[in-house]
Amino acid sequence: MPEGDTIHYAANRIRPVLAGHVPDELRTPHPRFGRSRWEERLAGRAVEAVEAIGKHILLRFEGDLTIHSHLRMTGSWGTYAKGDRWRRNPRRAWLVARRGDEEAVQFDGPVLELMTESRTRFDRRLALLGPDVLAEDFDEGRFLARLRGDDAGRGIGDALLDQRNLAGIGNVWKSEGCFLAGLDPWRRTAQVSDAEVLDAVRAIRPLMRMSLERGGRIVTYEPSRRGDSPLWVFERTGLPCRRCGALIRARGQGDDNRTTYWCPRCQT
Ligand SMILES: [Zn+2]
Repeated sequence: MPEGDTIHYAANRIRPVLAGHVPDELRTPHPRFGRSRWEERLAGRAVEAVEAIGKHILLRFEGDLTIHSHLRMTGSWGTYAKGDRWRRNPRRAWLVARRGDEEAVQFDGPVLELMTESRTRFDRRLALLGPDVLAEDFDEGRFLARLRGDDAGRGIGDALLDQRNLAGIGNVWKSEGCFLAGLDPWRRTAQVSDAEVLDAVRAIRPLMRMSLERGGRIVTYEPSRRGDSPLWVFERTGLPCRRCGALIRARGQGDDNRTTYWCPRCQT
């Protein structure tokens, strides 16, 4: 699943194409849009802002209308010079917004909706989001308040993944952050100090920002061989820990059973 760094990178690419301008063309070619008439409803309106919040992208148009996108596991955004070959089949395009010779294209949804500004404020998925891990002015106090207000019996790995506690984090960065902080993702949140959990968040924030600048290319552990994974624990089940040699373990965690990866020796 794309994490906050990938989403912010996409927003950074879309912004110069659309923000501050009325798109020359806006199409929703996918049959699912049927008679939803986005072209008509958005005609003549400028895009006031392109925002990334956690894993959501918002295209805010003049006059109280906003396009809300969430990529889940399958969606993607691309920006192209007009006439360039797209990275996905054109039949999978849900939205094409062109200005001049450049276009922003959303593929495969799966969440792509046009909503009023007031609805975005009350939409539970958006209104309940915790502080954005990638925000420059990330609010540690607000993050801790959310975490401490959550079920203290949850494993810390599971609690960290909850977008109401920390928006924009995903399974890769959760796993890597716990490793870098030496924190066992299975420890109950009640047994994790503020300093320990902040260590995990402070470890990943600069790495996520670096990944954002590199277009989602992750560099944490500098690999010794070409093709080697750049990560410490994520998807390294059964391989030796790069620090201590113990074998990396993996198991599903939380209500969503998302796989968490950890070193049983380095993380306590
Ligand atoms: Zn280890």
